[in-house]
Amino acid sequence: MNTKITLLLLFLLIGLVAFGQKIPKDKKQLIASVESHKEELISISDQIWANAEIAFQETESSKLLADYAEANGFIVERGVADIPTAFIATYGEGKPVISVLGEFDALPGISQKAQPTKEPLEAGAAGHGCGHNLFGTASLGAAIAVKEMIEAGKIKGTVKFIGTPAEEKFFGKLWMLEAGVWDDVDVNVSWHPSADTKADVQSSLAMVDFIVEFKGQAAHAAADPWNGRSASDALELYTTGINYYREHIKPTVRIHYHIQDGGQVVNVVPDYSKLWVRVRNTDTKGMLPVFEQVKKMAEGAAIMANVDYKYSLVSGIRETLVNRTGGAVMQENLELLGPLEYTEEEIAFGKKIQEMTDKPQVGMDSKIYPFEETRENPGGGSTDVGDVSWNVPNINLGVTVAPKDTPWHSWAVVACGGMSIGHKGMVMASKAMSMTMYDLFEDAKLVEEVKTEFKERKGDDVYKAMIPDGPPPIGN
Ligand SMILES: [Zn+2]
Repeated sequence: MNTKITLLLLFLLIGLVAFGQKIPKDKKQLIASVESHKEELISISDQIWANAEIAFQETESSKLLADYAEANGFIVERGVADIPTAFIATYGEGKPVISVLGEFDALPGISQKAQPTKEPLEAGAAGHGCGHNLFGTASLGAAIAVKEMIEAGKIKGTVKFIGTPAEEKFFGKLWMLEAGVWDDVDVNVSWHPSADTKADVQSSLAMVDFIVEFKGQAAHAAADPWNGRSASDALELYTTGINYYREHIKPTVRIHYHIQDGGQVVNVVPDYSKLWVRVRNTDTKGMLPVFEQVKKMAEGAAIMANVDYKYSLVSGIRETLVNRTGGAVMQENLELLGPLEYTEEEIAFGKKIQEMTDKPQVGMDSKIYPFEETRENPGGGSTDVGDVSWNVPNINLGVTVAPKDTPWHSWAVVACGGMSIGHKGMVMASKAMSMTMYDLFEDAKLVEEVKTEFKERKGDDVYKAMIPDGPPPIGN
């Protein structure tokens, strides 16, 4: 084709796209609302980032968010589901009830300054290596923008911000689901900090966590080892069995273990050992038989080492039920907002992170990816948002808060979450979620369509959280 004609067509296309993407007035107002709270949201996020509190210990982080919700006119219920740091902030009345959830827990041991070279803010302390400081704050920002639209009489219904602790360990949402937190909700909206930007229509992995403890008899390791029964022998035999088993499982399965106690000193036959085991698969149905086998093998190891063993369930979570109807609306809103833009300094920061983590130095990936097909085996991690998605339709989003290929759950994500790269992603997530929630309030038919897809995907499943009897493991 002639170059001039090609250029002309290209300009026409750009013109059409720009015209088609005019942001409606109400959505401009939502964007303006998020902008008006931006400095406060950034300040809250930075405080949560600096506090970096781990699972079920997010006292200050939870309070910062709950107090800000209250200051903005929400009615806040704290200590939900016997979890001191779980809360619900509600505004408005009647249907529809649209919730947005926010996480705010950190990961142990990855404290990091907001700089592109590795250096802890406080040696040995926790850090926000999953960007949950941004997660909780962006979601609350979205809820506030929606609240202002209800207050202005533009939409009717109830908006809820649900503060959900302990996503990185124990999975706090499971106890909140058992307590019925989402029972009156029509549609839930969520997001996750990411290295790229798109409406998220991929599932996550189902998984289960459990503890195995071996108990034997201590003895002098040299003087009278025949009096000893070694709990660490059992532990080694158990992990050896698990590692042999890897040959005979589907490629979609992941098994991990963390040795939590393998004995204390070399001159004692250890009478106690403990490990944390995790089994994952693409769905709960495929995960359960592998879980049963790995669980059973603990008995074999105990017999071989002539010790006793104890199994305890920690918790288990489900794969995410995607919602493409809702995802498509989120995608439209992302496209209305357009890609994030970065300063020279931010791009240089991103490239330095990539250099320090041995990745190609390509900088930030700010483009908005096209709406994806939902893959059968998406891989990736697990989240207790999965369990929420079996109880209520869930619309998910991912927004860039770190440079391309950043190793997740690492110092590099902590670094970005405490500076403007993370803040920009947070503000964008807040806007996109508020616009999607607005669409749900505004269009009853859309809510019905989202619910219809949810019901089809869920089938006749009856939800039961995979948690042990008793209260949530606060303080463990
Ligand atoms: Zn996370």
